[in-house]
Amino acid sequence: MRRHVTRAPAVLVTGASRGLGRGIAVELAAEGCSVAINYARNRAAADETARLCRKAAPSKGQRFVPIQADVGSGADRDRLVSEALSGLGAIDALVNNAGIAQRVRANLVDATEESFEELIRVNLKGPFFLTQAVARLWLGQGARSALPTGRKVIFITSVSANTASVDRGEYCMSKAGLAMAVQLWAARLAAENIQVLEVRPGIMATDMTAASRTKYDTLIAGGLVPQGRWGTPQDAGLAVRSIIAGHFPFSTGSVIEVDGGFHIRRL
Ligand code: NAP
Repeated sequence: MRRHVTRAPAVLVTGASRGLGRGIAVELAAEGCSVAINYARNRAAADETARLCRKAAPSKGQRFVPIQADVGSGADRDRLVSEALSGLGAIDALVNNAGIAQRVRANLVDATEESFEELIRVNLKGPFFLTQAVARLWLGQGARSALPTGRKVIFITSVSANTASVDRGEYCMSKAGLAMAVQLWAARLAAENIQVLEVRPGIMATDMTAASRTKYDTLIAGGLVPQGRWGTPQDAGLAVRSIIAGHFPFSTGSVIEVDGGFHIRRL
């Protein structure tokens, strides 16, 4: 990776203690980046991500800093940005990955306001306003960045952004809203040389899907996913790594599907 300034590019990844966020952090470490490893509660898992990043890193100068913060809280988001800045020296890219599933799957007719509010707070409001905080920082700093193709924001959405699951509607709505946040931020920040891209995963093997493993095994065996397998944290990590490495220089507001072909309409 070419660099504009001498330090390693610094990336803030939310929800990087486990699952896709860990896969993303490790691939970014292998690319030569420093990573702020945000987590909600699980410090031991965040430390393990930091250890894996260190193992994958080509340079001793890269930094890996676990930072606890609830992305749904405004005070926590402000602290997250300032601790990422003090821990890494800069933020060159933001990966909005943290997200939650509903605690209980409930059909639309039984869905509760509490669950709706929780999902929208963490999955939509959090990444929208974290992006706003980072964008304000960047707009006040001028264009200098360690990424040769400029600063970037990547949103991890889901095939649920346009796939209706009636027993987890609040999750689908949070991800559909997030897909629009990508369009909005891409349009606002393009002229500032800041790319905004959406990585849209399909059915991925993480703690989030652990409770539904047998159900998805059966669906995948039945042909739901054309490539015939579960996605992995590394699949998501490689997609984000390609963007950060500058391999999509003439793209913004685009959706990069990481779903084994799930999105293809078939007859
Ligand atoms: P996961 O295994 O459940 O991990 C969730 C991560 O997010 C953990 O690091 C967790 O931290 C963190 N987190 C949870 N709530 C948070 C909060 N309020 N503030 C900050 N961090 C928080 O989930 P995953 O499967 O990797 O999912 C990652 C993203 O991909 C989510 O946005 C999800 O919607 C999306 N996605 C997942 C799939 C899938 O099939 N798994 C498919 C499409 C999209 P702690 O360890 O501290 O709890």
